[in-house]
Amino acid sequence: MKIVYLDNNATTQVASEVLEAMLPYFHEYYGNPSSMHSFGGQVARRIREAREQVAALIGATPDEIIFTSCGTESDNAAIRSALATYPERRRIVTSRVEHPAVKSLCANLAGQGYRITELPVEKNGLLDMEQFVGSLTPDTAVVSLMWANNETGVLFPVEKAADLSHERGIPFHTDAVQSTGKIPIDMKKNMIDMLSFSGHKLHAPKGIGVLYVRKGTRFSPFLIGGHQEKGRRGGTENTPSIIGLGKACELAARHLDTESSAVTRLRDRLEEALLARIPQSRVNGDILQRLPNTTNISFEFVEGEGILLLMNEYGICASSGSACTSGSLQPSHVLRAMGVPFTMAHGSIRFSLSIYNTEEEIDFVIEKLPPIIERLRSMSPYWTSVAQACASV
Ligand code: PLP
Repeated sequence: MKIVYLDNNATTQVASEVLEAMLPYFHEYYGNPSSMHSFGGQVARRIREAREQVAALIGATPDEIIFTSCGTESDNAAIRSALATYPERRRIVTSRVEHPAVKSLCANLAGQGYRITELPVEKNGLLDMEQFVGSLTPDTAVVSLMWANNETGVLFPVEKAADLSHERGIPFHTDAVQSTGKIPIDMKKNMIDMLSFSGHKLHAPKGIGVLYVRKGTRFSPFLIGGHQEKGRRGGTENTPSIIGLGKACELAARHLDTESSAVTRLRDRLEEALLARIPQSRVNGDILQRLPNTTNISFEFVEGEGILLLMNEYGICASSGSACTSGSLQPSHVLRAMGVPFTMAHGSIRFSLSIYNTEEEIDFVIEKLPPIIERLRSMSPYWTSVAQACASV
C-alpha cells in the first residue's frame, strides 16, 4: 500500500542525498575525528564542513554550533546552563504550550525548588506580549519559548521576546525544533542567546541535534566528558549523523522558498477542501502566524484516534491532538491551553506536510477523509442528537 505521509512534525524521511552523504562514514571512514592520524583527521575535516553547513542555515558562525543527540538534549542543556550560570536566580519563564522537552523539564525543576512561570496563550495560540513583559522579573534565570508549536504550527514572536528579555538582562532560549528549515532564521538579526533544533525534523536522521549558543553567552555544559565540541558537550561525535545533518541543512536552505510556497499551497488546498466538505470542522491556531507545513483541524463529535485508525487503512499518516490512548481521555495540553472546546479538541488531527508531498496525495486525503468522518459521526450519539436538533429547526 502506498503511504501518504502527512506527519512530518513527528519525524521526516531521511533525504536520499543525506543518506548518500552519510553512508561512507559508517564503514569506510570510521576514524575517530579526535585521533592524531590523518585517517581520523579526514573525518574531522568533514565535521568542520558540516558545522559550516549547519551554521549557514541559521546565519550563525560555526563556533556557535554544538552538536547534541536530539532536540530534547539541546533544550535541557540550554535551560540547565542558564540555571548553572545564574545560580542566584530561581525563576524560569516559559509557556503552557511547550513540548515536553521543555515542559517536563520545568516540572522537574519545580520539584527542585525553581519557580516556573508558564505563560498562557490566547484562543489562537498566540502569546499575550503584555503578560510576557510582566513576567520578566529580576529573579528570572532564563526565558524559554518555542519558535513554532509542534501541534498547531503557531509561531511565537521569539525575536521580539528575545529583545525584551535582553533589555532586562535575562538570557533567552528558543526551542526551534519545528521552525528550523521551515522558515528563514537569521541569528545575525536577533538577540536570541540559545536555540535548539533536531535533525530528524528536517530530513536528517534521528539521534542528532544542535544547540546554538551565541558567542559571548555564558555556557555551562550539560554532558561533561571529553574535549569534544570545545568542552561544551563531551562524547565521541556521531560522525555519520553530523555529516548527514550538514547535508540536510544545505538542502533545507535551498528549499526554504519551496517550503513557503509549494508546501503552503498544498497545505491550504487540503485545509480549504476539508473545511468546505466536512461540517462542524475548524482550524486550531492562528491561520497567518504559523508554519507553512502544518494545519491542525478539529472535526467535532468524533475521536481523533478513530479518524487516525480509519485513515491508516488507506495508508494516510497523521497525528491526533488527544491522548485517549493514555487512558486519560484528555485532549492535548496545547489545545486545552487555547481553550478549544472539549468536543472539538477530541477530534483534532494534525497534518504536517513536507516538500516531498504531492498534489495527488493531498487529493487522495481530500477524497478519503470526508466519508471517514461521516461514518464515525453516524456512530456518535452526540452527533446524532445534534443532527436531529438541526433538522427540527
Ligand atoms: N521540541 C519540539 C517543539 C518538538 O516538536 C520536538 C519533537 O517532536 C522536540 C522538542 C524534541 O526533539 P527530539 O525528538 O529530537 O528530542
